[in-house]
Amino acid sequence: MEITVDHARATELFSAYWDEDLAPADLSALEEHLKSCVVCRREYQTFKKTVGAVGGLDRVMAPPDFAEEVRARIRKRSRGRFFSPRKMAERIPYELFSLVMLGLILAIYIVLQLSHPAQLKLP
Ligand SMILES: [Zn+2]
Repeated sequence: MEITVDHARATELFSAYWDEDLAPADLSALEEHLKSCVVCRREYQTFKKTVGAVGGLDRVMAPPDFAEEVRARIRKRSRGRFFSPRKMAERIPYELFSLVMLGLILAIYIVLQLSHPAQLKLP
């Protein structure tokens, strides 16, 4: 059975051809067309270059230690957000501050009660 591939169909098949994901019939038909068609051959060269450039970019963007670097960065960031000694130091004085304020209000209340004992005796 002969499958004929025209320009449009050939272009559609480039991606699968690059991924070596073509059915054998499609593969032979496409290769047959590429052999006989300069336009598609050129277009496939461009396609390969584009895909190759993207692939090269991927390698640049993701060096072998990329995952480890990301993990380290997340560790650093999450520690900064959740377990930072500096943040803990900010939290404790704040809680101490509210305790001190409560104590101060209580002390003022007691002092006021003691300095105006008559008000306590109101009916
Ligand atoms: Zn063609």
